Amino acid sequence: DRGWPEAWTRTTCSYCGVGCEMDVGTRAGRIVTVRPSREGPSNQGHLCSKGRYAFDFVTAPDRVTVPLLREAGGWRRASWDEALGFIARRLRSLRDAHGPDAVGMLGSARATNEENYLAQKLARVVLGTNNVDCCARVCHAPSAAGLKQMLGTGASTNSFEDVDHARTLLVAGSNTTECHPVVGARIKQAVLRGAKLIVIDSRRTELARYADVHLQPRAGTDVPLLNALAHVVVAEGLCDEDFLRERVDALEDFRAFIHGWTPEHAARLCGVDADALRHAARLYATHGPSMMVHGLGMTEHVQGTETVMALVNLALLTGNLGGPGMGVNPMRGQNNVQGSAHMGCEPGQLTGYVPLEQHRARFEAAWGAPLPSTPGLDLTRMMEAARGGRLHALWAIGYDVLLTNPDANTTREALERLELLVVQDLFLNETARALGHVFLPACTSFEKDGTFMNGERRVQRVRASLPPTGDCLADWEILCRAARALGHPEGFAFQSPEEVWDEVRRVWPAGAGLSYARLEHGGLQWPCPDERHPGTRVLHTGAFALGPRAALRRVGYAPSPEAPTEAFPFVLMTGRRLYAFNAGTMTSRTPNARLQPGDWLDMAAADAERLGLEDGARVRVRSRYGEAVLPMRRAEGLRPGELFTTFHTVEVFINAVTGPHQDGYTHTPDYKVTAVRVERA
Ligand code: SF4
Repeated sequence: DRGWPEAWTRTTCSYCGVGCEMDVGTRAGRIVTVRPSREGPSNQGHLCSKGRYAFDFVTAPDRVTVPLLREAGGWRRASWDEALGFIARRLRSLRDAHGPDAVGMLGSARATNEENYLAQKLARVVLGTNNVDCCARVCHAPSAAGLKQMLGTGASTNSFEDVDHARTLLVAGSNTTECHPVVGARIKQAVLRGAKLIVIDSRRTELARYADVHLQPRAGTDVPLLNALAHVVVAEGLCDEDFLRERVDALEDFRAFIHGWTPEHAARLCGVDADALRHAARLYATHGPSMMVHGLGMTEHVQGTETVMALVNLALLTGNLGGPGMGVNPMRGQNNVQGSAHMGCEPGQLTGYVPLEQHRARFEAAWGAPLPSTPGLDLTRMMEAARGGRLHALWAIGYDVLLTNPDANTTREALERLELLVVQDLFLNETARALGHVFLPACTSFEKDGTFMNGERRVQRVRASLPPTGDCLADWEILCRAARALGHPEGFAFQSPEEVWDEVRRVWPAGAGLSYARLEHGGLQWPCPDERHPGTRVLHTGAFALGPRAALRRVGYAPSPEAPTEAFPFVLMTGRRLYAFNAGTMTSRTPNARLQPGDWLDMAAADAERLGLEDGARVRVRSRYGEAVLPMRRAEGLRPGELFTTFHTVEVFINAVTGPHQDGYTHTPDYKVTAVRVERA
């Protein structure tokens, strides 16, 4: 019995990109309960099973509460001064020996905007490198890149409340009811009120059961499918001609390109019936306003960025941009994915997601220090540099690189070569446990103040409901202390997250109006350039950020290199399930673990019968890159030949199986198409 709360603190859920507001009830230094905030603009009185129940990780017995240094005999406790002094000495000597680009820094979607801002500032100003990235690299970097290239802003065009204004919803590669349950429920409610629903997903998800049309392409064939939809819109005269005339370039070139993408041609590639493609295209084009919601099923592919461009093509052709109930809207997997990249944790982008070279002088003036001249490496390229002996140190904040990066055996080789691996987290995650040299214990989001940025561009307050556990420090405090230990106190003398945020507002014109005082009640959506601005619910109502006009893009099809073969006849897709979150670092230490007791392999019944496998049979899944053993279950809604599982547990470690292929633009890994074989273990 936890008793009745003595105090309530309003804050923001730290799990997915919906960013639900919630009230945390505490008693005697412990969380007693969590209840949803009725005023939360993104959740309106709802929470899912993660936000509501998955908080006991804060007091888990294996929470690390003191800094640790690895020695020959294992980990030993250290003071903050000793741990940060050790890091400073090692970084200085590696930098002296190999240059500043021998070091890399990873910000985190688990950390606040203020902390991500400081992480990239420390990398650039103190360590002297643009080798700074975050976990957006392995999820929605293609959304940011595709949207930015076509519309000028790499963020959702609309708001979650637009779900209520759309007459047609197109949900693409997003298992919304499990991965973003509060928005998933909102979509289901919209459908029950009469909205039309098109689902594009290689699996028959729960949402697909509500759909007017479910297009179920073979894994990795979204580009042919989306091109066919665009073909139907153009060929049947369903374009919004006024919108195209006023706002869109390259129409004639696009018409010539899309001519050959008939539904029949696409059907042969993606396996979806041509008439179903026609039906979906007509519905999206004629029953507007139509709103797109997309997930990692679109982005974690070799053509992730181009797939997002193909989605934008459809929105441009039909004029479904710049108004309520429209737009192209990536569902951010972690709460602060949008914020971590937007604060500048990207090698080529500075705070506000602006190109480094164009804004170099402005930031050098603001920070009073030169910025590094070399371009910097993203996470994927950092791993290659580590394997090649060019990256010698990595500092990873709130990110289990070893467990979550694909092709884990190769990732391990890269991390093993590092001479300094600093892990800053709540627990000895797999990266720290296996290969870390220093562990810095961080506060949870229940123990610190700051802001998050959710998937609809809303900046929201995070408020401490508990004091720090043990000697844990908030990530922003760790980074400020680290800068001092590295002999660079200038620019890091912050006394509070609000002081950091006020500096962010000075260097980010579109966020200048987002003062803490104004964020107090439900947050605000950027752009919000001054303190009288109400925030922006819908982007591109007047112009695209690039200028008044956007341009359609040819998106050719490049098949995945992981086509099934005789030796590897199945295609494996990976993702998440309802009760668990990503690598399970937090949810595995809560009662949710009883509801999601591990990873299992979903297989079509026909395949299970053919292989003589009964439900629960332990199977070995083997790819060209590695293997994993896990139980198998027959699942409805999978195409024969396709498999699905999750990456929630270290016991299964499915990323030993996933492959090295990447999106050509952003180097985001393809987690959705790996050729494998399955045998009884
Ligand atoms: Fe948290 Fe997302 Fe669930 Fe809301 S929907 S409670 S933000 S995990």
